[in-house]
Amino acid sequence: MTDYNWCHGPECHTKQTQSRIRGSGTNKVLRTIKIKQGRYNGYQNGIWDYFCGNHCLFDFIRLHKDRIVALAPRSKALETPIKVEKEKYESTRWDFNNGIDNRPQRVPYMATRTTIKSVDND
Ligand SMILES: [Zn+2]
Repeated sequence: MTDYNWCHGPECHTKQTQSRIRGSGTNKVLRTIKIKQGRYNGYQNGIWDYFCGNHCLFDFIRLHKDRIVALAPRSKALETPIKVEKEKYESTRWDFNNGIDNRPQRVPYMATRTTIKSVDND
C-alpha cells in the first residue's frame, strides 16, 4: 500500500510553482503534487489526502460536478424538525444622533434572542 496520493486536481500539473518543478538541466517539468496520506489527521474527512489545496479541489468539482451530484441526486428539499425559542433580554445599542456633545452613546433597549433547538425524532 502506498502512503501517498497524487493530487486529483485536473490542472495541478500546470500551476507554475517551484514545488512542482522536477527534472534536471533543460529537461524539466511541472509535476502533480504528491500528497502524504493523513497529513492533516483526517481533518474534513480526509479530503486533503486527495487534493493539495482548495484550488485543485474546486477544479475537480467543477470538472466532475454532474457525475458527483448523480451519485446522490436530490429531487426535493430535506427538512429537520426544530423548535424555535425567542426570548427578550436587556441589551444596549449605539445611538449616533442624540449623544452628549454629538458623541455616540450606548442606550438600553430590549433585544430578542432567537434560539434553534433540536427536536428528538423518536
Ligand atoms: Zn493539486
